[in-house]
Amino acid sequence: KKWVYLFTEGNADMRELLGGKGANLAEMTNIGLPVPQGFTITTEACTQYYEDGREINDEIRGQINEYIEKMEKITGKKFGDKENPLLVSVRSGARASMPGMMDTILNLGLNEDVVDVISKKSNNPRWAWDCYRRFIQMYSDVVMEVGKKYFEELIDKMKDNRGVKQDVELTADDLKELAYQFKDEYKEKVGEPFPDDPKEQLMGAIKAVFRSWDNPRANVYRRDNDIPYSWGTAVNVQSMAFGNMGDDCGTGVAFTRDPATGERGLFGEFLTNAQGEDVVAGVRTPMRISEMEQKFPEAFAQFKDVCQILEKHYRDMQDMEFTVENGKLYMLQTRNGKRTAQAALKIACDLVDEGMRTEEEAVSMIDPRNLDTLLHPQFDVKALKAATPMGKGLGASPGAACGKVVFTADDAVEWANRGEDVILVRLETSPEDITGMKSAQGILTVRGGMTSHAAVVARGMGECCVAGCGDITMDEENKRFKLGGKEYHEGDIISIDGSTGNIYDGVIPTVDAQIAGEFGRIMAWADKFRRLKVRTNADTPRDAKKARELGAEGIGLCRTEHMFFEADRIAAFREMICSDTVEERVEALDKILPYQQGDFKALYEALEGNPVTIRFLDPPLHEFVPTEEADIKKLAEAKGKSVDEIKDIIEGLHEFNPMMGHRGCRLTVAYPEIARMQTKAVIRAAIEVHNEHKDWDLRPEIMIPLVCDVKELKFVKKIVVETADEEIRKANSDIKYEVGTMIEIPRAALTANEIASEADFFCFGTNDLTQMTYGFSRDDAGKFLDAYYDNKIFENDPFSKLDQTGVGKLLEMTIKLGRPVNPSLHIGICGEHGGDPSSVEFCHKIGLDYVSCSPFRVPIARLAAAQAAI
Ligand code: PEP
Ligand code: MG
Repeated sequence: KKWVYLFTEGNADMRELLGGKGANLAEMTNIGLPVPQGFTITTEACTQYYEDGREINDEIRGQINEYIEKMEKITGKKFGDKENPLLVSVRSGARASMPGMMDTILNLGLNEDVVDVISKKSNNPRWAWDCYRRFIQMYSDVVMEVGKKYFEELIDKMKDNRGVKQDVELTADDLKELAYQFKDEYKEKVGEPFPDDPKEQLMGAIKAVFRSWDNPRANVYRRDNDIPYSWGTAVNVQSMAFGNMGDDCGTGVAFTRDPATGERGLFGEFLTNAQGEDVVAGVRTPMRISEMEQKFPEAFAQFKDVCQILEKHYRDMQDMEFTVENGKLYMLQTRNGKRTAQAALKIACDLVDEGMRTEEEAVSMIDPRNLDTLLHPQFDVKALKAATPMGKGLGASPGAACGKVVFTADDAVEWANRGEDVILVRLETSPEDITGMKSAQGILTVRGGMTSHAAVVARGMGECCVAGCGDITMDEENKRFKLGGKEYHEGDIISIDGSTGNIYDGVIPTVDAQIAGEFGRIMAWADKFRRLKVRTNADTPRDAKKARELGAEGIGLCRTEHMFFEADRIAAFREMICSDTVEERVEALDKILPYQQGDFKALYEALEGNPVTIRFLDPPLHEFVPTEEADIKKLAEAKGKSVDEIKDIIEGLHEFNPMMGHRGCRLTVAYPEIARMQTKAVIRAAIEVHNEHKDWDLRPEIMIPLVCDVKELKFVKKIVVETADEEIRKANSDIKYEVGTMIEIPRAALTANEIASEADFFCFGTNDLTQMTYGFSRDDAGKFLDAYYDNKIFENDPFSKLDQTGVGKLLEMTIKLGRPVNPSLHIGICGEHGGDPSSVEFCHKIGLDYVSCSPFRVPIARLAAAQAAI
């Protein structure tokens, strides 16, 4: 088996095997761009490494050694050579890009002899020793997992001793001394001397990259981005180009369009006399790419050409890393650049207008999950105008955030778990901070540019970020900072604007975002291509209106019990639950009826004749019975009973397993008067609206929850039909209605052919269906799912991403059994999965008629449905 490929042997279509970076390095080589040559070890080798118990087997080792020789021939350099030594970078590269999640090692191949050689050859001992100390530092950290901090402490000590502030002010001798100190540190921590043999160094580095596929931050990133663990990462071994050899050298990162706004034009950052890591890590704040033109006119001109070639070639915005060594340009990487949702929409539309992409392709280019950010709040314009910023950084990831200042990722997680909104303020962020960044409303950093870790990751997460606010005087240790003449402590409130980079003292109110412009254009295209309809889960007219604005074509689920969350309504609801005679219950139901009728009317009006599915009561009782003494007393008074009597009733309602208890249609089987009342409310409201809007095709869909047997449905349906027909007859109306059921218990799926004979429609309640198929409580699974991720039993939460293998099979079976029995049966899904892109794709594939999801996920579902159809 072939485990290793030279860059000249691959191409862009081989990303599964070579990873994104490897495939693109090969492609750039093929189209004649200046790429330092090397080879790629395949993703299959990574999978094999894990299969072999985290070892690189002899066959793969053999091929790596063989390819080192090939590389030596191509470059004319040799590992450890006294004349022309080969130095390489070792970088990870998975199929899908995972910026900053895995490890990189630069300057590999150095030892004291080689340092002497390159120092003499370049006549630049400072550079040579700087490379060596960097290499020792990276290798120790990445390969041997000796913390970076030990080395940073040594650097700080050295700077103190020499009385200098910046790394670049250290002399060759200082760096040489540092390298020796680093080696001693390594020996002390690892227990062995630092390896001198480049081949040994290389095997260690390759192993470390494979191992980094499984590091905690990569695992979190994969879960968030739907990247399977089984893919593995490739490893790229590339001949070094040096950006830190002197003032005619440098390194940069650039995008062919602005990754924040999508505006055309080169956008990026450049650092002279530096290595790639310096830009990405945000240790020094770099210059804008346009300033590079003055320093390196030739290399810049060439770079601009390369950008054009690459953008045309890939027909997408490119994100490139490059190095200038002694004035000469080298391309180290290109990929389709990560971008904000706003930029993604603009770029997709522009590419269509420029004739580079079709509308279908443009729709397929947008990650549906990304749209979320566009729907996030922005600052209230008036309040913003009235506010004076106390400082400014780079607007690194758009959105508005307001919250209490915290200084560590752990604090961000802890405070957020307590329900606080927080802004994570850091000198700079590192990949270990990812969970903290996720928990925060926004991120503010003192150092780093638009391509720093914080900026890249925040954009990926759609989280507001202001980066590189150098005016902040930071005191991380004592959890305080100074800005604009004021000292801020943990817990103080600030607001940050991720578009302008402005930082404000105190609270600035936020408002909801608008859909317009490019968003509207892409959505219109998406609607043209999709087959699946998209409805919404909405229980209030307000949510329904919002969902309509966002493109919902109906209500797929109105949870009627949710209409009783408000304080004045819940009282009536409790009176109904805690009744012990039919008369008492009917009395309470009579109080509920007008609420329901009014709500339903408002929902029909908001939907303007589009379908409205009303799900009959499904209250897990424990969510509704009163627990507070005051509430119990109030209920007792309302019902004219003693507190003890009420407590007895509550005691009697106690269930060991409420989610599998007396809920759903089981309530109606015991208390038919509930269904009677709800039917009256549904039909009376419909008749009212129908009389006012004869042109609307109003046809309420009554949905019976938690059915497991056709006889159950038959029983409830009879009550519904009798009541509804009576209402319609009395009103002399011609209104039509449907009665259908949720499929959310495995037995319902298994007997769908029987149930279909009694149902006008099916709607999958995949929350309960997942709960009951797995036997995992949907309320408690969060407590143990982490252990499942840690042990690689699960890669995702089956409650957010539909389990296509198991639960999905039940869905397919239901459709297959149900449709032949009732060809007019319409089928949808209204569990949480209805707004998850990969689940939507599955729903399309198995032939559902519609998905239904929360209002803010409607655009996501529309786009995902279009992508599934393209
Ligand atoms: C479901 O079970 O998937 C569903 C939509 O109903 P609920 O979440 O209200 O139980
Ligand atoms: Mg349910």
